[in-house]
Amino acid sequence: MARIGFLGLGNMGGPMAANLVRAGHAVRGFDPVPSARQRLVAAGGLAVEAAAEAVRGAEVVLSMLPEGRQVREAYLGPGGVLATAEPGALLIDCSTIDVATARSVAEAAAARGLPMLDAPVSGGVGGATAGTLTFMVGGEEEAFARAKPILEAMGKAVIHAGPSGNGQAAKICNNLMLGIQMISVCEAMALAEKLGLSHQTLFEISSKSSGQCWSLTSYCPVPGPVPSSPANRGYAPGFTVAMMRKDLKLAQEAAQAVGARTPLAAEAYQLYNLFASKATEGLDFSAIMTMIAPKDD
Ligand code: NAD
Repeated sequence: MARIGFLGLGNMGGPMAANLVRAGHAVRGFDPVPSARQRLVAAGGLAVEAAAEAVRGAEVVLSMLPEGRQVREAYLGPGGVLATAEPGALLIDCSTIDVATARSVAEAAAARGLPMLDAPVSGGVGGATAGTLTFMVGGEEEAFARAKPILEAMGKAVIHAGPSGNGQAAKICNNLMLGIQMISVCEAMALAEKLGLSHQTLFEISSKSSGQCWSLTSYCPVPGPVPSSPANRGYAPGFTVAMMRKDLKLAQEAAQAVGARTPLAAEAYQLYNLFASKATEGLDFSAIMTMIAPKDD
């Protein structure tokens, strides 16, 4: 069992750290938010008052932070992970961030003899809690082999996506599909209703036809067909509108940087921007259904 330092004990990091404790690892966690630290203590881990205290002495350092800015600060900043980690410690960042930041932080880590992986996840808070996340991992083969048993305590699939940054590339591409597909299901549901075809009937047909996708069969954006989907609980998240905007923005920036054509993703990003407001940012991203088909329409 490993000594693990865990930075970022929020909606995702909290339950992920708890699963590491459950698997028998010694977890020291840090988050600036006291209630997040308390959750780790309740799960049987040790909460510390500074990032350096979590990192010092750890064989593996994991992080689950909001954005690239926090990852850069936590790893490269004064008293950060690179300055504090034990020689040879394995660093794994699970946050969803831009490919360029992932690669540059991993390069700085390698220059200090610290192998680093980008290992963003799919599966949301439900998957983090149940220990059924999918990890998409970028970095050296040897570091991946070391990380795999640790990540398996938190996920059902741990996939090596190639060299450093490729985990983030996979995550961005996956969520590009997700963002577009959700809007496609919303549009089809809205059109069906206007044509006199019920949501339930379209669901039954399309879930067994070529329109089938996760946004329809697991996350259906209208109440009814999939009882566990956020549409049945007032679009409580789940995966928020703010997060979908963030990931579509990362996809647009990545596409621009390498000259890839992503016209539908650009449109999806615009639609999520149009939908986003103070009132909607915190809703599940499937709530965009309420803009595509307003109740009084
Ligand atoms: P969150 O805001 O709930 O948690 C992030 C935590 O990091 C917060 O508790 C914050 O206090 C902490 N933090 C910030 N700076 C820190 C630092 N320097 N050291 C230690 N802790 C620090 O966000 P989340 O939902 O847990 O998401 C985390 C990452 O996972 C994001 O990159 C997100 O895009 C990605 N993600 C989220 C989901 C989801 O459904 N929530 C799904 C897949 C991927």
